[in-house]
Amino acid sequence: MELKTHISVQNLNVFYGNEQALKNISIDIPDKKITAIIGPSGCGKTTLLKSFNRLINTIDEVKVSGKVFVDGENIFEKKADVNRIRKKMGLLSQKPYPLPMSIFDNVAYGPRIHGMNDKKKLSAIVEKYLIEANLWDELKDRLHSPASKLSVGQQQRLCLARGLAVEPEIILGDEPTSALDPRSSKHIEERFLALKNDYTVIIVTHILRQAKRLADYVVFLYLGELIEHGPAKEIFENPQMEMTKEYIKGVIS
Ligand code: ADP
Ligand code: MG
Repeated sequence: MELKTHISVQNLNVFYGNEQALKNISIDIPDKKITAIIGPSGCGKTTLLKSFNRLINTIDEVKVSGKVFVDGENIFEKKADVNRIRKKMGLLSQKPYPLPMSIFDNVAYGPRIHGMNDKKKLSAIVEKYLIEANLWDELKDRLHSPASKLSVGQQQRLCLARGLAVEPEIILGDEPTSALDPRSSKHIEERFLALKNDYTVIIVTHILRQAKRLADYVVFLYLGELIEHGPAKEIFENPQMEMTKEYIKGVIS
C-alpha cells in the first residue's frame, strides 16, 4: 500500500504529573485513509488523539516532549499557530455536544466566527454539510428548531456537520459511537467511510469489530506504548507481536 503521510509523530512522550501516559511514540498517519487507534481502556488512545491538535496542552500538569508534524509543520514548536492547527481538524467526542441553539445555527457557527455573514451563502453551507453528515433529508423542514430536541444519534451527526463546516482536513473521533444506538453508530460509520475520500480520518475505538469494519491503518497501544502499527489487513490477519495477537484474539483486554 503506497501511503502519503499526513501526520508524523516522532518520539512523543506525554506525562500527567509524574505518570507517563505515552512512551516514545513514533508513527506516520496516512493521508485520506481511516486510521484506527485501538487498545484497552487507559492505554493512552485519547491522549494520543488530543496531541494531534494540541488539546492536550489545555490540561494542567501535562508535560509533552517530541514532535508532531502536521503537513510538515511541527505543531509543538513555540511559534506554531494553535488556532490555525485546530482549524485543520474537526473533533467528535464520545458524547455529542451540540451548542444550545438551532440546528441551522450549530452548522453556521464556525463559518460565522470566521466572518461569513451572507445569508444565502450561509444557507448553502448549512445545506451542504447537513447533506455530508447525512442529516439533510431528516431535518430540512425544521432547521430552526433547537438542536437539543434531536436524538443523540442525530446530535452526533450534527456535531459532525458543524465540524465539517469549518473545512478541516482531518477528522478526529474519540470513540464517536460509544453513546449511540447500533443504527446511529452505523450512520456515523458510513459517514466516515464516505469522508475518507476527502479527509484524513483518525478514530479511537476499543471496539475491535468497528476497527475491522473501518480501518485502513491500525495503531495498537498498550499501557502507553506503541506495540504495533501498520495496514489493517496485516495487523488483523498477520500480527507480528505476541501482545497484538492476544489482544485481537481477546485474550487480553
Ligand atoms: P484511553 O483513551 O486509552 O482510555 P487516556 O489517554 O484517556 O486513555 O489515558 C491514559 C492514561 O493517562 C490513563 O492512565 C489515565 O488515567 C491518565 N490520564 C488521562 N487523562 C488524565 C488527566 N487529565 N490527568 C491525569 N491523568 C490522566
Ligand atoms: Mg479515551
